[in-house]
Amino acid sequence: MRARSSSGETAEKSAGSVTKLARFTGGNRYGGRDTAVGGDDWARPTVRAFIDGAAQTWGDFSNMNGGPFPPHDSHRVGTSADGWFTGYNNRDATTAATIIGHLNTHGTRIRTVYVTFATGGAFAQAIANVTLNDGRATTSVIRNHGGHTTHFHWEVNP
Ligand SMILES: [Zn+2]
Repeated sequence: MRARSSSGETAEKSAGSVTKLARFTGGNRYGGRDTAVGGDDWARPTVRAFIDGAAQTWGDFSNMNGGPFPPHDSHRVGTSADGWFTGYNNRDATTAATIIGHLNTHGTRIRTVYVTFATGGAFAQAIANVTLNDGRATTSVIRNHGGHTTHFHWEVNP
C-alpha cells in the first residue's frame, strides 16, 4: 500500500501478498446476482478453475474484492462456493451419498462441506462411520451448519 499526502509526503506499508480474485462466468447458477458488488461471482483463480470443472449448480462465491458478504459467515477470501443439486433439499441418505461421491471424486480440494441436518436423522446416519477415499472421516469434512437447508457450501483448498 502506498499513500501520498497533499504536501507530497509518501508512506509505504507492505500487507503481504494478495491473490486477485477471478470472475466465474459459468451459466449454471441459481438465485439472483448482486451486480452492485460484482455479481457474487469471484473466487481465487485456482478455486474458480476447480469449480468450473466440478459440474454443479452454483450460487454465491465472493464479492469482487472479497471482504464481508452478509448474510454469509465466510465467502470473504475467494475460497467459498454455495452449490445445489436436484434432491439436495431432502438432506437424506441419498443426499449424503451424493456429497460423499463429490468428496471421493475431488478429495482434499474440498476442505469442508456445510450442510444443515438433524442430529440422528437419515443424513447424519448416512455419514457416520464413513471414511473417504482420501482417509478423512466424512464427519470431519461435512459439518452441520445452520442456514444450509437449501444449498450446500464448499470451502475449497486453493
Ligand atoms: Zn456459503
